[in-house]
Amino acid sequence: MKTKSLRALPETETSTAQKPPWAAFSRFSPRRRSKKPNTHHAASVLRFAVILALLLWAPALYAGKLKVVTTYPYIASITEQIGGDRIKVDHLARGDYDPHTIVPKPSFIARLRRADLLIISGAQLEIGWLPPLLRQAGNPTVNPGAKGFLDLSRSVRLIDVPKSVSREQGDIHPDGNPHYYLDPNNIPLLARSILTKLSALDSRNAGYYRSRHGEFAKLWNAKSAEWNRKLALLKGKKVIEYHKNFDYLLRRHGILLAGTIEPLPGIPPTSRHIEELEKIMSGGGISFILQDVYNSDDASRHLSKKFNVPMVKLPHDVGAVPAAEGIISLFDEIVRRLGQ
Ligand SMILES: [Zn+2]
Repeated sequence: MKTKSLRALPETETSTAQKPPWAAFSRFSPRRRSKKPNTHHAASVLRFAVILALLLWAPALYAGKLKVVTTYPYIASITEQIGGDRIKVDHLARGDYDPHTIVPKPSFIARLRRADLLIISGAQLEIGWLPPLLRQAGNPTVNPGAKGFLDLSRSVRLIDVPKSVSREQGDIHPDGNPHYYLDPNNIPLLARSILTKLSALDSRNAGYYRSRHGEFAKLWNAKSAEWNRKLALLKGKKVIEYHKNFDYLLRRHGILLAGTIEPLPGIPPTSRHIEELEKIMSGGGISFILQDVYNSDDASRHLSKKFNVPMVKLPHDVGAVPAAEGIISLFDEIVRRLGQ
């Protein structure tokens, strides 16, 4: 078998008509024209060296780069805008799932273990899935309160903060509404906190982060002006919402929330609750029903059909729908769908 393969190589090298896919490697051989049997050996050694170099080079590519893990894709997208190629950023959850109930994977633990910085959305959004993973990862650098930990909810003012916690009723918003990031006007506050954290952990690249943040802030201002102009047209309209995902955006633009399909955040609708919503809707004046991509839309469809009110499905994170590829296109898509 050995002799056969030794003979085969010079043959393919001299043939110009049909080059095998690996022919490109032969360029690296210093003795490619030689018909001596050790040509193949030299090529193998070289091939091995190339593969080894690639294997060594891949981790080297990230060596010295800050390894950032974020819980949700929207955070990863903002972080990328600021960190550029000086960081390696990874998100744990998928953007098309219910952010409250992410099903953990073993790879989440491995990523948390290697991370230099963990950025979370906070306000109890990750409470149902992240704490056990952090315990298992055993990486003190990224534990709450540590240097490599950033809770973005601390940068904004939460709404619907309850006076007393009603968790026994099943409310999954015990600290207030955690979906603050779905108001584009809050994103600059988050970007600013991310800039501060990246610069503190990696002061060598602070200038680079500052300049990228400046570019992002400029772009965001221009986009926000466009979004705010379009959303202003919806002022005074009344809507029904499945989950309280868009309350920050609704409040900002004077869009009135007439009711939610969930009786309490995280609690699926009962027939009695739907009857109450029907009473509200039969009074007229509801412009649309906001539905997310992950909860069942049966109740929304039922109400939409019965009262001839359009149901609008909105992405709640980057990756929730194909058009929401990044933090900017997420809001482009939300505004586009609301304006239809
Ligand atoms: Zn929620």
